[in-house]
Amino acid sequence: MKIILDVRTIVFANFIYSAAISVFLLYFGARRDRRLSGLQWWAYGFLLFSLNFGILIFLNFIPVWITNIVPHFLTVLGLLMIKRGLALFYRLRPRIWPDSLLSAVILIALIFASSASVQFRVFVITTAAILSYLSTLTMLRRLENIEILRFLYVFSGLIQLIRLWLGFRIPIGTNPMDAGTNMSFISMLFFLSQVIIALALISIIVRRLIHEKEILLQREKKMSVTDELTGLLNRRGFKAVFDVESQRVGRKRLAMSIAMLDIDDFKEVNDRFGHDCGDEVLKRIAKIISSQFRGADILARWGGEEFVVVQPESKESDCRSSLERTRSAISRESFTFKEIPISVTVSFGFHTSNSGSMSFDGQLKRADENLYKAKKSGKNKVVGGSSD
Ligand code: GH3
Ligand code: MG
Ligand code: MG
Repeated sequence: MKIILDVRTIVFANFIYSAAISVFLLYFGARRDRRLSGLQWWAYGFLLFSLNFGILIFLNFIPVWITNIVPHFLTVLGLLMIKRGLALFYRLRPRIWPDSLLSAVILIALIFASSASVQFRVFVITTAAILSYLSTLTMLRRLENIEILRFLYVFSGLIQLIRLWLGFRIPIGTNPMDAGTNMSFISMLFFLSQVIIALALISIIVRRLIHEKEILLQREKKMSVTDELTGLLNRRGFKAVFDVESQRVGRKRLAMSIAMLDIDDFKEVNDRFGHDCGDEVLKRIAKIISSQFRGADILARWGGEEFVVVQPESKESDCRSSLERTRSAISRESFTFKEIPISVTVSFGFHTSNSGSMSFDGQLKRADENLYKAKKSGKNKVVGGSSD
């Protein structure tokens, strides 16, 4: 089939594609990336557009414009693109390459490019095109909205496939107006480089999508076992860890202590200073208890302002002393809200099963009864006991 594509159609299609990519980047990126100022974003968006557009046009019209000034102009842009691509990849700041050195390189390259073979130009431009897409992908990676990201990746991939098809249909060394003539060695080279770009891009897209999916799954899994406010285990996470640990302790007939912590008069903190202040207090307490207990102990937010601590291989006296230490650390901590000191204390109730054979529910019930006793006898206390 002989395909005839109007020059204006090709220019228009390339213009729309380059503008669409740049507008997407500007619109969605400018709001999210605070590392770049608004002006820098516009400048980069414009550069991105010019380069995309320039490279696309150059790829399509090398034979037509070969003696024109356009290749010189595009070579400068291509080199700037390579610089920008490398800078993005190696996380260099844009100014890290002195501009004078860059200008010299551009000038030499210009002189060289103007007399270079078509192969050399194909190589330079293909490299610039690859870098342009790699740097576009780097930019895309900064966007946070996954739906837009996905759309952009797929969009870029499709565009690459269309370009591949066009590249096949309109071989280099041919005037697009007379498309359909035999492909030369150079056009084969061009075609292959397009295949490589397309395959590389598709593999990047696929890898990226798989990676995103894995991250999402991991995040979901972590969120389902973690308490959002304090970062400690929630009840579900606690159960999973506890079941493994209690089987081990039960098998070896080792002692196991379970403690319940409840913040004293927490309602008052909320009422006087507000819910946000209450949340801050909860976070601080979670931090303190995380630092006070051993790595082998299991900590969880049981609900509201109650926390559970499980101490495997811990006798009554060991458990009591660690709880006392934590209780006193919390009472000594200076909590403030808008510079007003807040007095925060906690009470602990615990129960130790010396043989580790008691059921979790039974042990927790005893710990809760002891907590009630601690509250009844004036709060800011540790009350506990043990049984076989
Ligand atoms: P006590 O010394 O007897 O434990 O008195 P208390 O005021 O702590 O009494 P109680 O346990 O009944 O009150 C718990 C309060 O904790 C009630 C609730 O508003 C508050 N609370 C529960 N969960 C949260 C939370 O996630 N954030 C905040 N800010 N407050 C919470
Ligand atoms: Mg309570
Ligand atoms: Mg309370």
